[in-house]
Amino acid sequence: MRDTKITPVLFIFIITLLSTCSIHRQIPQEDFKPTLILVSFDGCRYDYPNMATTPALDEMAAEGVKADGLKTSFPSKTFPNHLTIVTGLYPEHHGIIANRIYDDVNDETYTLGNGAVLESKWYQGEPVWVTAERQGLRTATFFWPGSEAEIGGYRPTYYKAYDNDFPYNKRVEQVLAWLDMPEATRPQFLSLYFDEPDHSGHEFGPASTEAIAALERVDKQLASLLDGIEERHLEDKVNVIVVSDHGMTSLSRDSVIFLDDYINMSDIKMVDYSPVAAIRPNPGKLEEVYQALKDAHPHMKVFKKGEVPEKYHYNDYKFIQPIIAISDLHWTMTTHDFFNSHPNYPSKGTHGFDPDYQDMNAIFYAKGPAFKKGVSLPVFRNTNIYELMCHILEIQPAPNDGSLEVTKGVLEK
Ligand code: AMP
Ligand code: ZN
Ligand code: ZN
Repeated sequence: MRDTKITPVLFIFIITLLSTCSIHRQIPQEDFKPTLILVSFDGCRYDYPNMATTPALDEMAAEGVKADGLKTSFPSKTFPNHLTIVTGLYPEHHGIIANRIYDDVNDETYTLGNGAVLESKWYQGEPVWVTAERQGLRTATFFWPGSEAEIGGYRPTYYKAYDNDFPYNKRVEQVLAWLDMPEATRPQFLSLYFDEPDHSGHEFGPASTEAIAALERVDKQLASLLDGIEERHLEDKVNVIVVSDHGMTSLSRDSVIFLDDYINMSDIKMVDYSPVAAIRPNPGKLEEVYQALKDAHPHMKVFKKGEVPEKYHYNDYKFIQPIIAISDLHWTMTTHDFFNSHPNYPSKGTHGFDPDYQDMNAIFYAKGPAFKKGVSLPVFRNTNIYELMCHILEIQPAPNDGSLEVTKGVLEK
């Protein structure tokens, strides 16, 4: 029989070898390329975190960057703004001008529920994952409006069809699992999306107990993400940006504008209702409908396409309808029929209003090796995030409506 006794020298050698291996298991053996995780808390108004217990957002602010607010693009709706954040383009330039869009030539409608979100034809801009993939990087989206469609011939390397009910913690686990992939297949840009506190803000009202509790729930998910990054010793490798798409304001059944008090609804097609009504008059009816609506209500502004004030950036796109009516903050446009048959309409809260209202402001937090620590930014436009993300990923941005000038003061280099 062979002698299997281990000499003390060999023993020390083996222990040293094992401990070296275990350190190597914790610290990635090769250097991480620039990596960025973009997180969205849908409908988190700029001031919600002040009303909630949000240790993860607080950690982001203390160890990174917090903006006083993020200014939404018009209309302050989910799809238009998620696309603006990832393209740097105003909605009139990236094409997602509303959550409901009508193509009159082909009689096709884009809505969130009809599968149109998968169709390339609606998307005009270049989302950051396309810019990255074009330049040879891999990307991964655990949901982001537009991420399931092929855009400009590209898709994220890893993506998932939207599923509202997919458990939040599983989303975080998958993002962390993507970070664990070998260098050859690991994505450098990753997104993570949560539909709260938007949903609770609509149902229970902005700043309601339920909306604040919903923010606390998503903050816990952010905490797991940040913890997961720390467990992997990647806090000096991986950047995290947390944004929301818009704010939220209260509505009431007492602040309602009835369009059918002023026009005959059979003279028009309503593409979208409130707070931005997209109105398509029947042939020959444009002037009559416009004149009837123009000064009809003190809380409703009405414009013909091409005459929407410059600040909205909302004229220059084929699917913008001939008449755009915009209600003032808190006001809802509807018809008597709809109002009478929906006793719970309008919901307690909504968004979509002029981004100049502070209630429409969103959040921006950032942390990681690219960012200075414990710094703040004044309110800035969400068109500027795309350039920032391209800078972090060291890729060439496509033409866009934003600028790195706005955020470069919070960057390490
Ligand atoms: P909004 O009507 O502007 O409040 O839209 C918010 C809703 O958009 C959320 O409650 C989600 O259900 C929905 N949503 C978010 N991302 C996607 C997606 N990628 N595909 C389809 N629907 C989505
Ligand atoms: Zn939203
Ligand atoms: Zn919403």
